[in-house]
Amino acid sequence: MNIIVLVKQVPDTTDVKLDPKTGSLIRQGVESIINPDDRHALEAAVRLKEAAKGKVTAVSMGPPQAIDAISEAMGMGADEGILLCDMAFSGADTWATSFTLGKAIEKIGKYDLILCGRQAIDGDTAQIGPQVAEYLGISQVSYVFEIEEIKKKTMVVRRRLEDGFERIQCTLPAMLTVIGELNQPRYPVVSGLIDACREKARIKVWNAADIGAQASELGLEGSLTHVVKTFAPKFKRQGEMLEGNVKEVVGDLIGKLKENRLI
Ligand SMILES: Cc1cc2nc3c(=O)[nH]c(=O)nc-3n(C[C@H](O)[C@H](O)[C@H](O)COP(=O)(O)OP(=O)(O)OC[C@H]3O[C@@H](n4cnc5c(N)ncnc54)[C@H](O)[C@@H]3O)c2cc1C
Repeated sequence: MNIIVLVKQVPDTTDVKLDPKTGSLIRQGVESIINPDDRHALEAAVRLKEAAKGKVTAVSMGPPQAIDAISEAMGMGADEGILLCDMAFSGADTWATSFTLGKAIEKIGKYDLILCGRQAIDGDTAQIGPQVAEYLGISQVSYVFEIEEIKKKTMVVRRRLEDGFERIQCTLPAMLTVIGELNQPRYPVVSGLIDACREKARIKVWNAADIGAQASELGLEGSLTHVVKTFAPKFKRQGEMLEGNVKEVVGDLIGKLKENRLI
């Protein structure tokens, strides 16, 4: 079974701060990690490989330092790593990102399953998995928390809903976006990490020409959305202390809530 895992390198924080002057992300002092959901995707892929043989390929689009995320993925058990790295990819919105990943997957060629995280903790859109699946024209199931059964041409998975779950059978190849409930990711073993460092030289780095894409389809130029302005919302909280005994305070509070049409 050939499995591709999409791995995004993200800042190790959900408390993203913007430079008020430039509107760009402040990255200094923030370490980079593999996006948490993607670790669960990697764990699932490595377990499937261990059970049914095959190959796991980790793919990331990002700047040169994203090679560390690929190395770590290999330390966790991925067999191959591909970094999509080219200035032409920069400024990509989710459309251009999905297109780039889709083109790379087409170049990889033979695959049975693609796993990715449900959502990245920085971009937070949860669009990449479904968009890549649409681009490739394959089955997709999002919010997967259990892989129940895999046969030659089909698989059965469970996807989380707000009030329960759905059990779905889909045809292969398929794209699954996974959530943390799926498994407990392993730590990269020391020997795996050492191998991963040695492997660095073997990680493939593909540019736009390698995936057969034109500059006009990539990065900022190929994006359908454009950022007009970036700013951090200013919170202006107005506090008001209500005075009196409990009955008076509760009465006042209800009055104010009604006045502001909050109840
Ligand atoms: C107009 C616009 C301009 C932007 N410009 C920039 C920019 O200049 N620089 C910049 O860094 N970002 C930029 N972004 C953000 C960038 O488009 C998103 O980070 C990217 O498309 C992924 O979306 P997401 O983070 O919401 O991922 P989600 O859809 O939330 O991620 C789901 C899963 O998809 C996979 N995935 C997501 N991204 C990647 C990736 N790159 N490689 C491999 N797997 C991946 C992972 O498995 C992840 O868990 C821009 C976004 C917009 C809308």
